[in-house]
Amino acid sequence: MTTSEQCFEQAQKHIPGGVNSPVRAFKAVGGSPRFIDRAEGPYIFDVEGKRYIDYVLSWGPMLLGHAHPSVIEAVTQQVQKGLSFGAPTEIETRMADRLCEIMPGMDMVRMVNSGTEATMSAIRLARGFTGRDKIIKFEGCYHGHSDSLLIKAGSGALTFGVPSSPGVPASLAEHTLTLTYNDPAGVEAAFAEFGEQIACIIVEPVAGNMNCVPPLPGFLECLRKCCDQYGSVLIIDEVMTGFRLGLTGAQGYYGVTADLTCLGKVIGGGMPVAAFGGRRDIMQALAPSGPVYQAGTLSGNPAAMAAGLAMLEQISQPGFYDKPFAMTTQLVQGLRERADAAGIPMTSNHVGTMFGLFFTEETQISNYQQVMACNIERFNRFFHGMLEGGVYLAPASYEAGFLSAAHSLKDIEDTLAVAEQVFATLKD
Ligand code: PMP
Repeated sequence: MTTSEQCFEQAQKHIPGGVNSPVRAFKAVGGSPRFIDRAEGPYIFDVEGKRYIDYVLSWGPMLLGHAHPSVIEAVTQQVQKGLSFGAPTEIETRMADRLCEIMPGMDMVRMVNSGTEATMSAIRLARGFTGRDKIIKFEGCYHGHSDSLLIKAGSGALTFGVPSSPGVPASLAEHTLTLTYNDPAGVEAAFAEFGEQIACIIVEPVAGNMNCVPPLPGFLECLRKCCDQYGSVLIIDEVMTGFRLGLTGAQGYYGVTADLTCLGKVIGGGMPVAAFGGRRDIMQALAPSGPVYQAGTLSGNPAAMAAGLAMLEQISQPGFYDKPFAMTTQLVQGLRERADAAGIPMTSNHVGTMFGLFFTEETQISNYQQVMACNIERFNRFFHGMLEGGVYLAPASYEAGFLSAAHSLKDIEDTLAVAEQVFATLKD
């Protein structure tokens, strides 16, 4: 039998770090990653045949659980006709029609292949549309790895940023202002000083890349108000939250509508699909109807559209969200009760089918500084204990967890039974 460790060793010969996306390498938690052979419903199976209850779900997309029969069937049907044509297809129009029907404020939409492309293109469009260069993002939010977004805060409160990765020009970082999440006063101050120069704000409406941090009441509303007042574009990045907080995403959930919305993950049902869309007057500035350039050889790929449409059909069924929402609450409450009983200080956030656990004495976590102050070493031990017990959590303390409609009460109970044992080992 080949082990995950052997696979990892082999992978490192020709793949940098042995993985095609860094977090998969388990660097944050230590140890070597499990190599996955297959997945079904709420479970993934590694190359050694071990089964795990999966709360990563390919980092979000598998809202129906893995290998859902209707998604697999739709893709299988579509691939018989060929994999890609580089010419328009009707299935792309069906996807665009459906997205514009569902998503608040979405008059037009363009399909791309990754969340990174969606946010990068939305920012270019916002800059092209407004004729301004500066953008605002928030500390702890991740929007993919394009240059303008790999920027961390500068040294002062209202200073423009510095690159957070080598290879990003400092001259580009100068255009990105990084503010504190859930701090409306900081946003108002930034607009008071630079409002006329700001092309857009980009925000995760529930931050899922610094664990799980929902917006405090008034935060998203403040972003909307500032953008309206100064003619800036509000980009709500729903790559993660899209369809995880309900069919209409975080915008439907919180009642704040973007000018441009980015989608990804769930809309592809596990295929490489993302999209950006929004106000007609802004979207029409895109090539070929307008001057802002954006393109993609495989964009709107028919097999990927088939997967996405099958996914959307399933999750549009009335009552679809009742069970996964209830399961998420049950899981999180159960974990908190067991941590309490074991005397382990832990708090949590959850919204829709997203959740986050924080090993801390604090009772409410609402920004990046607080997330970073949590006990990471304790999380890492929790992670490995759960993994050993057959529960697959995100291999880093700053990632959100996800539930699917395939998780059953029995899966939750099994997870809690493992957690009870693991919490008992975390005391010192
Ligand atoms: N935006 C958000 C909110 C994300 O969570 C991610 C990925 N985790 C991205 C953008 C980037 O998407 P991708 O990895 O598909 O490029």
